[in-house]
Amino acid sequence: MSSRVDRIYFCRICGNEVKFTKDGGGKLVCCDEEMRIKKEGFDGEE
Ligand SMILES: [Zn+2]
Repeated sequence: MSSRVDRIYFCRICGNEVKFTKDGGGKLVCCDEEMRIKKEGFDGEE
């Protein structure tokens, strides 16, 4: 079985979303801000 990780990152500045299916190092950066993980079912404010 594979253990692929599906995560969606989003940019709080421009709203860009990136689907990231690899589990590895590195952080995604957009608009000079670290992209946040968009959790499934999480659609509210902190
Ligand atoms: Zn951005």
